[in-house]
Amino acid sequence: MNVFIGVDDTDSTKGMCTTYLLTELIRELGYPVLLGYPRLVRLNPNIPWKTRGNGALSLSLPGDSSTAFKIGEVGGRDVFASFTPSQELPDTAALLESASSVVERLAVFEDENTNPAVVVSPSRPDAGFYWKAVRELVDRSEAKAELLKANGLYRTWKNGRGIVGATAAISWLAAEKTFEVITYRKKENWGTSRKVEASAVAELSAKFPSTFNNYDAVNRHSCILPSSPCPVLFGIRGTDPALLPEAMRYVGGEPIDRWLTFETNQGTDDHIVEPDRKPELFHSYLLRGTVSSTPRTLRGGHVFFSISTEFGSFTCAAFEETKEFRNVIKNLAPGDTIRAWGSLKPGPSVERFNLEKLEILSFGNRKIKISNPTCQSCGRKMKSAGRRSGYRCRTCHTKTAEPVYATAHPQIMKGLFAVAAGARRHLTRPPELMAGDNMSSPEPPS
Ligand SMILES: [Zn+2]
Repeated sequence: MNVFIGVDDTDSTKGMCTTYLLTELIRELGYPVLLGYPRLVRLNPNIPWKTRGNGALSLSLPGDSSTAFKIGEVGGRDVFASFTPSQELPDTAALLESASSVVERLAVFEDENTNPAVVVSPSRPDAGFYWKAVRELVDRSEAKAELLKANGLYRTWKNGRGIVGATAAISWLAAEKTFEVITYRKKENWGTSRKVEASAVAELSAKFPSTFNNYDAVNRHSCILPSSPCPVLFGIRGTDPALLPEAMRYVGGEPIDRWLTFETNQGTDDHIVEPDRKPELFHSYLLRGTVSSTPRTLRGGHVFFSISTEFGSFTCAAFEETKEFRNVIKNLAPGDTIRAWGSLKPGPSVERFNLEKLEILSFGNRKIKISNPTCQSCGRKMKSAGRRSGYRCRTCHTKTAEPVYATAHPQIMKGLFAVAAGARRHLTRPPELMAGDNMSSPEPPS
């Protein structure tokens, strides 16, 4: 018999990290072997009241010690997991008490956007709740109803919004998944600048090809380091959990306090749906359509263009932080057919489809003006009749609309393009994971 524990919404933009809280939970609950990896579950990235990655955490226990393998080091001790449950029957009420005391000790209660919750359940709530929480906006009462059906217990603080993430984190079936090894800093270094060799981070993808989103070579950015002053030193993502500890040691840097490998829905595109009706705000979609306007670059470097789809026309946006991805966008032309991954968000005037990835399927006809037209009546070169007014012959006053065009070649290739690694969403499946089936479940390390 095993128990599922979920926790969410304990951190703030100014510090702490729910993954660190989970390591403390593992330390204090005192079970030497977890059932499977602990889980870092990212939820709908478009939730308006969330400013961070919207990640919830869960673990299951107890695991069988005879089939256990090492997944981390916390508080000076090795952490183990097994894919076989132990026969031991844990006390759900006692686990709720212990987990609650960890939350009360570590959660950032003074942040108005931090509304923690802990759930402890003897069975996994319906997986449909996870799918709803990763794609839609879910109400607290729906989470409570799912927990009730699963005979789960919960405790919440403040407005208790964390119950949605905590319940979703234990509902996830992990059919598609990746892994992340996270290292944590010694307490005396929290808030200071992180000491990690950028050159080692730059080499990670070549040395460990199953890892992803490590380094943005164009912009010289180490994507494994967080930008907030939280206890995390770095996190390395990959499809093979057995290689992550080696990758972690390769990066090195300042001495670490603890590390732990998580199973996660990062890089799965679980948030994306192919719409069957008109797309809604705060949801993520894969849209198929035809480029219907010439891309234009606005002040600040943001690039916009329109696509027409079976659900109407959308304004697609590639913001400055997407970096060289905009070079692809700028070279799109009306008539190009594309698939676009992104989220529908409110904008200052119209809704915007904020792009995460784009695939160019075919090119429309690109024409460039090569000269003014020749008059059909007298054979002289015509002159412009003014902006958007066509051309006029000064001699015989004949009018015509179009100049002489030549066919231009596209300055981009067909294929799949994603925003710069540093601007990617946690859930976005990177193009390098989309080529083959890299998402299969690896065997546990021996
Ligand atoms: Zn003429």
